Amino acid sequence: MTSFELRRLKLRPGEEHREELQVELPVFEFGGQRYLPVPDEVPAELVVTRAVTGTVFTLRFAARLHGPCYRCLGDAVLDVPIDAREYQAQTPDDEELTTPYVVADRLDVSAWARDMVVIALPEKILCRPDCAGLCPVCGKNLNDEPHEHPEESADPRWEALNALRERG
Ligand SMILES: [Zn+2]
Ligand SMILES: [Zn+2]
Repeated sequence: MTSFELRRLKLRPGEEHREELQVELPVFEFGGQRYLPVPDEVPAELVVTRAVTGTVFTLRFAARLHGPCYRCLGDAVLDVPIDAREYQAQTPDDEELTTPYVVADRLDVSAWARDMVVIALPEKILCRPDCAGLCPVCGKNLNDEPHEHPEESADPRWEALNALRERG
């Protein structure tokens, strides 16, 4: 996992430090499905800025996830641009002024990056915005085979049900 040692930074107020680093990304579980980051290690820019009362962290990178489309289960590719910011007060007496990603003078870049990707995910991951999904009657992919079923179609499931009704 990627982390960044803050102790070696000797920044004075107003100074900043820029660092290019490689961030490892995990497999994301979302809506019961797995989404793989491709690649699973992406270049990121970390900027540490020392303010008078604390330190500001910004992290920028772009993740690309591969996984099943919510509607048709076909392959979906999702680009997730991240531009995140965290603040750590110098003398934190308030939880809101600390970041959970700084522990013992180390910035846990991977944990931060993972959480930012999760927050940035859309409600539904689709192969394309207008994905037609699967036919609710026969289960075929409506993107490949657009079709409709005439009402009261000869669906075998209904026929079986009707047969049961007639028997009863
Ligand atoms: Zn789809
Ligand atoms: Zn159908």
